Amino acid sequence: MTRTLPPATASKLAKLGIRSRHDLLYHLPLRYEDETRLTAPEAALPGVPQLVQAPVRRAEIAFRPKRQLVVHADGLVLRFLNFYGSQVKQFERAAQEGRHVRAYGEVRPGWFGAEIVHPRYRIVAPDEPLADTLTPVYPTTAGLGQAVLRKLVLEALEEEAIEEIVPTALRERLGLAPLEASVRLLHCPAPGADTAAAWRRVKFDELLAQQLQLRLARRKRRERTAPVLPASGALLKRFLGRLPFRLTRAQSRVMAELLRDLGQAHPMQRLLQGDVGSGKTIVAAIGCLAAVDAGWQAAVMAPTEILAEQHFRKFSAWLGPLGVAIAWLHGGLPAAERKNARKSIASGAASIAIGTQALFQEGVEFARLALAIVDEQHRFGVKQRLQLRKKSEQASAHQLMMSATPIPRTLSMSYYADLDVSVIDELPPGRKPVTTRLVSAARRGEVLERIRAACADGQQAYWVCPVIEESNDRDLQAALDAYEELRRELPRLRIGLVHGRMAPAQKAAAMQEFAAGATQLLVCTTVIEVGVDVPNASLMVIEHAERFGLAQLHQLRGRIGRGARASDCILLFQEPLSEGARARLKVIYESADGFAIAERDLALRGPGELLGERQSGAPLLRFADLVADEPLLADARAAADELLAADEPLAHRHIDRWLGVRADFGKV
Ligand code: ADP
Ligand code: MG
Repeated sequence: MTRTLPPATASKLAKLGIRSRHDLLYHLPLRYEDETRLTAPEAALPGVPQLVQAPVRRAEIAFRPKRQLVVHADGLVLRFLNFYGSQVKQFERAAQEGRHVRAYGEVRPGWFGAEIVHPRYRIVAPDEPLADTLTPVYPTTAGLGQAVLRKLVLEALEEEAIEEIVPTALRERLGLAPLEASVRLLHCPAPGADTAAAWRRVKFDELLAQQLQLRLARRKRRERTAPVLPASGALLKRFLGRLPFRLTRAQSRVMAELLRDLGQAHPMQRLLQGDVGSGKTIVAAIGCLAAVDAGWQAAVMAPTEILAEQHFRKFSAWLGPLGVAIAWLHGGLPAAERKNARKSIASGAASIAIGTQALFQEGVEFARLALAIVDEQHRFGVKQRLQLRKKSEQASAHQLMMSATPIPRTLSMSYYADLDVSVIDELPPGRKPVTTRLVSAARRGEVLERIRAACADGQQAYWVCPVIEESNDRDLQAALDAYEELRRELPRLRIGLVHGRMAPAQKAAAMQEFAAGATQLLVCTTVIEVGVDVPNASLMVIEHAERFGLAQLHQLRGRIGRGARASDCILLFQEPLSEGARARLKVIYESADGFAIAERDLALRGPGELLGERQSGAPLLRFADLVADEPLLADARAAADELLAADEPLAHRHIDRWLGVRADFGKV
């Protein structure tokens, strides 16, 4: 039975994802405070919060060094810098009535004995009993105090039933503690109680909810219909007959997987994974053609304008000769052009639309969208990915997500488990491996010499500046300074500049000049990180490489080694190196394997970062940790199948219990 919550607190609880009294049961503590034991004020250890108690003697308002309420109790002084008049009265009354103050906080030695600043406190009778369980500290939000939350949880524990979902046989097989006992224990453990088994149960349940959710989403997708895009159309045939190069075996295999999905009447949801430079773009173009052949539209979305423009050029070169109309849309286009692009997308005059996320915002309407492709999908935040998912679900379109960042096993078993995955695990022939060198910034002179020699030999080079956030003025200034300095140091070279805050047209022009060989050295920020493809560039210098993340370094390095020449990636680092930076540089130096790098990245940073969780603000999993709890994840996967087969309504209740308002975030 679920009673409604008091309306005043309800809106605050909603912020925590708590919709009902029943949800409170699964709002578990972050940590505990020990109020089961009293420490004598003079015996309190410094730096550790403890519970102390003493009879109140008097309260006064002092003015030095600052206005404050000072409460004198036997052997104990409490100080409050912010206080109400009513508190002064409360302590005066306590002194008259011989009551005690019981305070929780860090005790420090002071003028008049032990002192606590701003403790949590209560006025109590001298013999008021102590708590016999630890005091939980819950995640909360502004204006909702722990005391209120605790009271609500205790009420919920009394009134709400905790339904066991996992059948006994399964529970015994997996060695799981019973749910009710676990939840009760975690809300009010006795001091010294072992909570490990209870947490394990909670984590299992959360992972199980996620697995169930993914399976149901997948099943639901199979129930929906999408346009059938056969692989037998005339345009596709003609394109395959005049490809700019021979597809690798991996590309051919993945193309077949893609075309098979598109030929079915259910929306595809496929992730195309292939290391940088493996040739995903042409596979995307082939998918688009299947849609165009069948009289439908396709959309290709890229995370940066530079990449969107590059796709637009490539697609135009490949498909333009076949008479395919392609529209290009991004936020930086002049209003008139944007309007035109929108119009041709809405009328169906454009068969393929290429752009940034602007494609799926600003009320762009597609006449007949059948295929939505997201390039470098890991670069979009969780929110954007969900938005896109919703859009293409409404349109019942097929979806292809592409990523150069391999998905570590734990993630592919969890967040990505409802996707079908294709992997291009082979690079086009003739690629020379990139040699990575770690060079101290003190040897900058030698590096400049290396650039001079390469450019004199007709090669091109990137100089990457450590602008991690394009919005950061100081970062940007450092890039501009680097550009000026390099122009002074290398006066004979033609040097270009590109960064995220240039106007889109300027950015495009700078990229064009570099691609055409008009500039020899491109000073840039991470705007070139994804997708940019200039095969003649064979040297890359990354300044302050110690500040970059692993995935970024790997992506950046993927910009070179695309032509026939052996390429060098020079990682300039500034000493001294932090331990984390040293670990990252070691990984990138030792490995060129995107998969190994991603596994290391996951271990060093945790899954939230990889998923773009930070942008979303909402935690994806509250209790389980994909890396630490990997064995539990495997158990949850197996259990999900059993449970779903045995009792589907129960599975729905389980999802609602653990994911609730977060249900959407279970999938990415
Ligand atoms: P990514 O998978 O990183 O998106 P791209 O699609 O940009 O890779 O391809 C990288 C480069 O390799 C491009 O210049 C592309 O034209 C070229 N390429 C792709 N496939 C092949 C192939 N089978 N043979 C030769 N070159 C190829
Ligand atoms: Mg690409």
